Amino acid sequence: MEGIKPERLPPRENFIEWYNSLLQLAEIADRRYPIKGTFVWMPYGLKIMRKLIEIWDRIFEENGIEEVYFPLFVPLEFAKINEEWFEGFKADAFYVEGENVILRPTGEPAMYPIFKYWIMEGRLPIKIYQTVSSFRNEGKTTHTMIRDREITFWHEIHTVHKTKEEAKEEMERHRKIYEYIWKEILNIPPICVEKPKYEIFPGADSAYEFYIILPNGRLLENGSINNLGQAYARKFDLFYVDEKGNKQYVWQVCTGNGARFLVAVFALHGDERGLVLPPKLAPIQAVIITIPKEGKNYLEEAKELKKRLENVGIKTFVDESEKTPGEKFNIWDIKGVPIRIEIGEKEIEGGFYSIYRRDLKERIKVNKEEVEKVVKSLLEDAIPRNLYRKVETHYQEKIKYFDNIEEAKRWIEEGNVVKTNWCGKRECFEEIKRLGPSIEAVGLLIDERKDGKCIVCGESTNRLTLIGKTY
Ligand SMILES: [Zn+2]
Repeated sequence: MEGIKPERLPPRENFIEWYNSLLQLAEIADRRYPIKGTFVWMPYGLKIMRKLIEIWDRIFEENGIEEVYFPLFVPLEFAKINEEWFEGFKADAFYVEGENVILRPTGEPAMYPIFKYWIMEGRLPIKIYQTVSSFRNEGKTTHTMIRDREITFWHEIHTVHKTKEEAKEEMERHRKIYEYIWKEILNIPPICVEKPKYEIFPGADSAYEFYIILPNGRLLENGSINNLGQAYARKFDLFYVDEKGNKQYVWQVCTGNGARFLVAVFALHGDERGLVLPPKLAPIQAVIITIPKEGKNYLEEAKELKKRLENVGIKTFVDESEKTPGEKFNIWDIKGVPIRIEIGEKEIEGGFYSIYRRDLKERIKVNKEEVEKVVKSLLEDAIPRNLYRKVETHYQEKIKYFDNIEEAKRWIEEGNVVKTNWCGKRECFEEIKRLGPSIEAVGLLIDERKDGKCIVCGESTNRLTLIGKTY
């Protein structure tokens, strides 16, 4: 139990403290639920989460990936089919007492035995996803939405294909989907790496992982795409019979992320005043606040403006509460509403509205007639672009290229991330880990090449990695 609600945000440099206070103050999550690694989604937080879910629902469906619902209960006998999977999860699975059942840590053992029936019934390819809670009895320190024991609103895409090529294509499709979410919805430049073989599921083909760099310089994994090859197909006996009558194992892809997308949004766009929401995720895109004077409250004007904005598809809210304008400014700043429109005496007399951009913390005067056009263009263009650029700048400040391991180590210790050439070999991976607690090379960057030498062994390579402290 953490006690009462904090009164103000601590400095953002103390990231975890700032983040926890933000979740509470912005009414995203109530962290006082008395079971470790769980929390309560509050109405405002849940609305943001639902926006994101609506978006991924639409994108997945557009890509032919359909939603299903599998039970949270997984029979222990299914869980034991792939002994390597079970080895990874048996210690931190939740066992349902008195029954041979665990609560799902991931979807594979629940889904794949049922896929076997579907494949036999001629349903290839299978392309499905599920948004659901997953459960891990974490021994490590938990952090809300970063590492929970009940991982809420976690989506997993599972696809099954006849050929290796088709699975590879699907994997690339998932990468494009995630990149679209990062750029267009969350307004964050994606960082995607290819994991080395020894870091992926035994027998799997390849894996991509997305990362963000938190304000404190820590790398946080944020979504993964796994080309499972035939690793599971062979364990679960998932096969089809080809034209020649031969048994052919299927090829599988599994992709997942969830509320961690929001951690990226809160952490990277937020500031000393609170949240800053990307317009596409904001449950309220424009809030109208009136500044009453001498008996006039300007609520009629506010409601009329709300109607005008809603007519062009902008989600608008008039704050009619009893609080003072200053208190209202503060609340909506904390909640990260992208645009605030102020209506008071000077606006009415001057025939304009004062429009405040949360991302820049700046006010502009907008002619009454042009308000729809201006607000729409801010939400669709100027604000997303500025948010994206700000994160890009943050990354540029945090990431520096090094070819000397001692200097690299110092840069990491100062709360930053190192970019360097890396051969990708296991020995060098282990050597990098020895630089310090939680320090890791996160994989090979997929979009970037540079000629150089591996920072550990000196072998020539054009592949690059990021090294930093991870959560
Ligand atoms: Zn090396």
